Amino acid sequence: MKSLLIINAGSSSLKFAVFNLPLTQDAPSVYRGQIDGIGANTQFVAKDLDGKVLLETTIKSPDGASLEDQQQLALEKLLVWIEDQHIELAAVGHRVLHGGKKYSAPVVISPEVLAVLETFVPLGPLHQPHNLRPVYALAKKYPSLPQVACFDTAFHRTQPWQSEVYPIPRKFTEEGVIRYGFHGSSYDYISRQLESVLGKQIGNGGVVIAHMGNGASMAALREKKCVATSMGFTAAEGLMMGTRTGNIDPGVLLYLMDKHGYTAEDLTRFIYKESGLLGVSGISQDMRTLEASDKPEAREALELFCYRAARQIGSLMVATAGLDALVFTGGIGENSQFVRNRVCELMAWAGVKLDPELNKIRGKALCIQAADSKVAVAVIPTNEEWMIAHHTTTLLGLN
Ligand code: AMP
Repeated sequence: MKSLLIINAGSSSLKFAVFNLPLTQDAPSVYRGQIDGIGANTQFVAKDLDGKVLLETTIKSPDGASLEDQQQLALEKLLVWIEDQHIELAAVGHRVLHGGKKYSAPVVISPEVLAVLETFVPLGPLHQPHNLRPVYALAKKYPSLPQVACFDTAFHRTQPWQSEVYPIPRKFTEEGVIRYGFHGSSYDYISRQLESVLGKQIGNGGVVIAHMGNGASMAALREKKCVATSMGFTAAEGLMMGTRTGNIDPGVLLYLMDKHGYTAEDLTRFIYKESGLLGVSGISQDMRTLEASDKPEAREALELFCYRAARQIGSLMVATAGLDALVFTGGIGENSQFVRNRVCELMAWAGVKLDPELNKIRGKALCIQAADSKVAVAVIPTNEEWMIAHHTTTLLGLN
């Protein structure tokens, strides 16, 4: 039997999933796992279909190995483990951060494509080089193995120019400083579930999808196509997140530079690592921990998270010209009754009303609005790996 390997490689982690072919709708991965702590204490965990741990081990790197060497070693360990399972790979699908303005759909990777993807490194220096590294390593080891790139940005390329352009000097817009948006594979997957969960008419109407996990964003859809999204040039814009600021007055950054001598590195840490739920609560970036805490700082972090989410929905409703449905997904969106309830309370003015019993749902797609709600509300679990597997099989004609 032939299989697909799906890879989501970051700087210090490599998540993977293996799907058997033929790939059926919503088929679960037969194996999944991750290699974490690359560059420090590298841990490799692999699980089977039922979540049973098959392997849990530490990967030891030679002393003085560079981050790049350690990433390479992590991939090699994964490939050896895959061979040990007698998995025969038909193709590999990669989650790649940036497709720039050029790619509005997944693409089969060739040397020419790779050269173009390299030019997007300045747009996503924290992710793009790490996303591409396994592509080179696999191409070297298995030159005839087809590889496909699925971009976080691709889904949003249908945005009208008003949603995409910043009010900045034109020369920077032309250089590519525009609002790309991210979490594309998740929105792509959810957009394909809308009709079956919400019905044809509502599914094709004005829909706001809230992908709320550790990273959080929203997308506004009409006819299942993106018309606006909350993330922009980077994944720092928009919603308050686990550790990211979301929207913030750029004047705050200038103030930190002037008053506290913040360097670009300090600002990067401030924007991406020290703010959000963690910064406001001073306790944790994890929604479960904050929900369980009775400290006032935790309550404030939760309220700010929900309030800013509702403000974002209000803004996206301009792009959709009204709201027919609100969809929650991602670790928080799929699991947190509290967040769904509070966001919907704050959207009551727009006719959004939840059914408290239905809101208890976890782990499956369901409409959870009250009978007298003017807006449909749904929970739809996302499945980014399956989406990448689907594109990989479709593009390569493997099914
Ligand atoms: P993700 O990045 O999509 O994996 O989502 C991670 C976030 O989902 C973390 O903030 C978790 O605390 C949150 N999360 C996961 N399960 C739950 C739950 N049962 N209730 C509330 N939040 C949850």
